[in-house]
Amino acid sequence: MKSILQNKKRCYICGLYNPVEEHHIFFGTANRKVSEQQGFKVFLCQEHHRGTLGVHGKLGHNLDLRLKMDAEKKFIAKGNTKEEFISLIGKNYL
Ligand SMILES: [Zn+2]
Ligand SMILES: [Zn+2]
Repeated sequence: MKSILQNKKRCYICGLYNPVEEHHIFFGTANRKVSEQQGFKVFLCQEHHRGTLGVHGKLGHNLDLRLKMDAEKKFIAKGNTKEEFISLIGKNYL
């Protein structure tokens, strides 16, 4: 899996190794493909992925936003601009 945020296959939030699932940080039809291409992906344990407090969960909105901000920050730290990010994702999170 291509990820600009991590090298190891473990939960990006809690560090658990197994089982983990692949998460597209920017999901939805158009952004899913961009996430694949740009490496806007992380591994998450089941709880942090689909649990109540997980990124797709009922109370997971803040965690979802945190990952989106981390991805944009890293994208810019790698030498890209905020404008380039917005042209890819359609929105600024910082
Ligand atoms: Zn976790
Ligand atoms: Zn996901």
